[in-house]
Amino acid sequence: MSETSIALALEAAEARLRSILQTVPDAMIIIDERGRIESLSTTAERLFGYEADEACGRNVSLLMPSPYREQHDAYIGRYLETGERRIIGIGRIVVGRRKDGTTFPMHLTVGELRTGDRHHFTGFIRDLTDQQLTEDRLKELQSEVTHMSRFTALGEMASTLAHEINQPLTAISNYLKGSRRLLERMEGEHVEMLRDAVSKAADQALRAGQIIRRLREFVARGESERRIESLPKLIEDASTLALVGAREHGIAVTFRLDPAADLVLADRIQIQQVLVNLMRNAIEVMSEGGSVRRLDIATAAGPEDQVEVTVADTGAGLAPEVARQLFQPFVTTKRKGMGLGLSICRTIVEAHGGKIWVDSPPGGGTIFHFTLRAAADDRETDDA
Ligand code: ADP
Repeated sequence: MSETSIALALEAAEARLRSILQTVPDAMIIIDERGRIESLSTTAERLFGYEADEACGRNVSLLMPSPYREQHDAYIGRYLETGERRIIGIGRIVVGRRKDGTTFPMHLTVGELRTGDRHHFTGFIRDLTDQQLTEDRLKELQSEVTHMSRFTALGEMASTLAHEINQPLTAISNYLKGSRRLLERMEGEHVEMLRDAVSKAADQALRAGQIIRRLREFVARGESERRIESLPKLIEDASTLALVGAREHGIAVTFRLDPAADLVLADRIQIQQVLVNLMRNAIEVMSEGGSVRRLDIATAAGPEDQVEVTVADTGAGLAPEVARQLFQPFVTTKRKGMGLGLSICRTIVEAHGGKIWVDSPPGGGTIFHFTLRAAADDRETDDA
């Protein structure tokens, strides 16, 4: 082929690519093997808020929140070195970052293109923010978590009820014991019948107490199934769930995940429930007002095999009337709130051997902290 015909063929190929990128309904991004953005489809420009001109040539980690942003180059490097596929051809739900700093859940499929000895990667992206939750994993996660929340809400109510009813039951028992003692010293034609009735009433009170005790034991035991789980993965899944539908609130989410806080001993669904509860509360309070809307999720490895998770928001802060008894059931400032979310969080965290508490930083907003037990690191981390 002559030089002119090569140039013509190249130009034609480029024109074809340009037209594909302009018309493809999906958001599509092509990067080179160093992670630099080569092209962006029109839908991708709209989705991320970058013009192709300003994004091209920059590292694709621009479109990801931390900690993925810092780790992405290493992911590519590892793939090129080992050929081990962790996302290519598989597809998964991840968090994307728009130019304005806000984040959103998205489904990403990555393909690979080789020209000679050079690699390119193509990413196809679907924004899941407004999507009916058709994605299998998302649906599955959501139904697990909502099923669990209903179950735990029921348990929490039963436990509170049990606690509240136990006190009058004990009082009834004591009154009956007193009455029986009095009756033993009395005589008359109805006394025998009265003794019998009082004794039967005491038996029934005892029985009610046993039912309540069994109920509490059942709730306390719960259905908790603790395994070794990756904390970053739990957080990623929970934030995907919590962020669905959050676009209109313009909330920027940042993750600061300590690489040393990786494996924890946890019931996956219960801990996701805690995270979703805390994030939803934060999103809810921030969507009510305020110009800065930031949700910061962080982890830190602590002493004595503990890891700490914090969920911080820039919302209006805690209402004084709830601040002191926040983790008690039925404490709420919301018109439609049940006030069970945080008490469920506490039950779950404490059942895991952890602690949960809240801080009101002087600059405003609210920070929730909870701890989990770290698990021994006996397997490879699975992130890319
Ligand atoms: P509910 O959401 O049903 O009210 P929760 O137990 O989850 O139940 O929350 C109890 C109360 O705690 C809420 O009504 C709210 O007043 C307060 N609260 C929870 N999270 C936050 C937060 N991030 N910022 C400010 N207030 C909060």
